[in-house]
Amino acid sequence: TAAVLSGRELAAAIRSETAAEAAQLSAAGTAPTLAVVVATADESSAWYVRSIARAAEQVGITCDIVDLGREATGPEIRRTLDALSADDRVHGVILQTPLPPGVDAQEMALAIRFDKDVDGANPLSLGRLAAGLPAFAPATAEAVVRILEHHGVEPAGRHVAMVGRSTVVGKPAAHLLLDRNATVTVCHSRTRDLAAVTSAADVVVAAAGRIGLITADHVAPGAVVVDVGTNPTVDGGLVGDVNATSVGEKAGALTPVPGGVGPVTTALLLAHTVQAASTLRQS
Ligand code: NAD
Repeated sequence: TAAVLSGRELAAAIRSETAAEAAQLSAAGTAPTLAVVVATADESSAWYVRSIARAAEQVGITCDIVDLGREATGPEIRRTLDALSADDRVHGVILQTPLPPGVDAQEMALAIRFDKDVDGANPLSLGRLAAGLPAFAPATAEAVVRILEHHGVEPAGRHVAMVGRSTVVGKPAAHLLLDRNATVTVCHSRTRDLAAVTSAADVVVAAAGRIGLITADHVAPGAVVVDVGTNPTVDGGLVGDVNATSVGEKAGALTPVPGGVGPVTTALLLAHTVQAASTLRQS
């Protein structure tokens, strides 16, 4: 059976490092501050925002939730992001999704100043990432790489099948893995014979948002599987994109849901905020 690649210990390590840096910055007169802009009444989004706020406070980061309500318009959201980008007191800015119908997240995120873009939502950040220039990667994409490295799975030279090509997970994760010298195949909903592609890979990263998409037929014996999926279940639980029962009997290692990529993602958001505070302070 597959080894369980937990994200909890790594998340705790990142949080304690972040807490130490936050304390230093605060003592020096810069209280690291993260602003989360919300324009939805979505329940799972509200749950996620509360968990970020709680985690931030625990490491000594001030978290401002700016709730514009689900009636917010594009120009309103943009003005808010502009104001936060200009506010010296704020070091990190996140725009929570979903957004009201007709409001495009990437279009809005262009208003997040790139050195405060701690979740890599501004298309400029993704472009810089692709070009190999310094930028914040989306926390989830970075979490994929960090969890692999933490468990001693070096991407270099390995064939990674990335399932999903979204701008928040699949594409940035593919770039981060490429930068670490992995051979990356990016799969998506139009990929013909997904199982043939993924079962040829050493590492399968599932970020499709489809419950149970990845089964034993999709993985090579002994492969490493990272499950990014966070799909809500009817009973209020959370399941991944990987059928853990069938994959667990064939894969060499598998990240759990919950307790895998998720906690590392939140920890990295906080780490990025402290990093932004430190950089902005010196500029
Ligand atoms: P998305 O809907 O934007 O993108 C999904 C991608 O998967 C698309 O590129 C699509 O082509 C591909 N896809 C869909 N069905 C497929 C199929 N049958 N075969 C192959 N590819 C398929 O989703 P997203 O925002 O990238 O998120 C993906 C998953 O990751 C979701 O479950 C989401 O909840 C989760 N997520 C988790 C975290 C975290 O912190 N753990 C953060 C962000 C997203």
